[in-house]
Amino acid sequence: ANSTSTAAGPTSTALFEAARAIIPGGVDSPVRAFGSVGGAPRFIASAGGARVRDAEGRDLVDLVGSWGPALLGHAHPEVVAAVQEAAARGLSFGAPTESETILAELVRDRVPAAERMRFVSTGTEATMTAIRLARGATGRDVVVKFAGCYHGHSDGLLAAAGSGVATGGLPGSAGVPAGITALTIVLPYNDITALQECFAERGSEIAAVIVEPAPANMGIVPPEPGFNEEIRRLTAANGALMIADEVLTGFRVGPAGFWGLEAIDGWSTDLPDGGAGVAPSWPGADWRERAAWVPDLLTFGKVIGGGMPLAAVGGRADVMDLLAPIGPVYQAGTLSGNPLATAAGIATLRLADDAVYASVASASARIQAVVSEALTAEGVAHRVQRSGSLFSIMLGADAAERGVRDFGQAQAQETHWFPPFFHTFLNAGVALPPSVFEAWFVSAAHGAPEIEAIAAAAPTAARAAAMA
Ligand code: PMP
Repeated sequence: ANSTSTAAGPTSTALFEAARAIIPGGVDSPVRAFGSVGGAPRFIASAGGARVRDAEGRDLVDLVGSWGPALLGHAHPEVVAAVQEAAARGLSFGAPTESETILAELVRDRVPAAERMRFVSTGTEATMTAIRLARGATGRDVVVKFAGCYHGHSDGLLAAAGSGVATGGLPGSAGVPAGITALTIVLPYNDITALQECFAERGSEIAAVIVEPAPANMGIVPPEPGFNEEIRRLTAANGALMIADEVLTGFRVGPAGFWGLEAIDGWSTDLPDGGAGVAPSWPGADWRERAAWVPDLLTFGKVIGGGMPLAAVGGRADVMDLLAPIGPVYQAGTLSGNPLATAAGIATLRLADDAVYASVASASARIQAVVSEALTAEGVAHRVQRSGSLFSIMLGADAAERGVRDFGQAQAQETHWFPPFFHTFLNAGVALPPSVFEAWFVSAAHGAPEIEAIAAAAPTAARAAAMA
């Protein structure tokens, strides 16, 4: 047999061309299309641990992690087994299962402010439901969000959004009625004065402030000390709700998400080592007395489903109980709480113990160090920004000098340095997130071999950025 013909399936480029003929842009989610870095995206054939295998059969060290879910690494054997066992019992019933209660209890053990939960299939649905609940609870219509925060693609939340909206340089989205975005007030992130002025002017109209408690969709922009607390104080004082969107950070930066890290553990960028040394902990029985801030509602996604379509909205029992069928706020889903998804979520949360968080944190710190050292050696001005173990690298002299504290500063990076940096890494077998506005996702499966591969590729990638 001809040994070359056995491995030769269609290349990623050919697959992308075929996809583009039938799927808009060839992708089901825009940032996958490599729009801001150029070239054809890698089509993925399989994945395991810290690596993905592309259509060409090349193994890549993966720093995308399915955009967050793969905390344990891809295809963790125990998670896969749990899904296979669930699949053998049936794919979907449209009726309640015990798994939903078990998963809800696992979440509440970690984030006790989630007194009640409802499972949905995507983060978009979770934040959309949280907003509807806040409006139903308060009888008010206006929602406050921050520029550069991304909360999914529901109409009212697409104003000045991060993630793919930022990558595409879009102000928002066509197809969103002006009457809907008129109900969304967009404020600069980390600006306590703007928030105070907004409440002073319109406090009685505001149903909720929604925030990523540690924004990760304009790159990582950590909250300045006291910012989340001030959101809590102002919302409570004005009869509005605080919605903490932990779709990305939840169960990733620690067992209790960013809420646990900041409100319970006292993590802060003001700490001597930039907060890197704070080990995430569990909230404990006295969490309510200890917490610096407690949101009314929280949203979760990504890690909670371990790679399956699952997300949740949780929070105060009195607010959550406004949901149908017991309350007047309607929300539903044919596949909500799907048994395969809850099986993956249960297995993932049970496996995500202190050792997992310690391992993610130490791999993340090593990766930050080797990449930053390479950039420094090539004279590429940059700053590593982190919120717990989550990080991204901001490019440019301004970012290096003063750091990036809001969306305007994130957009002022030397974004054109990123594509050659990205492609040089990719050619060397390391897949970064294909946008400078995204977090780098490290998993518990990233070990010495992956860190070595990243360290080996970093100098040439840094040189490519220096020459851009
Ligand atoms: N909120 C945040 C903070 C997110 O990062 C995301 C997705 N990146 C979402 C909401 C939307 O989740 P999904 O893509 O599952 O709809």
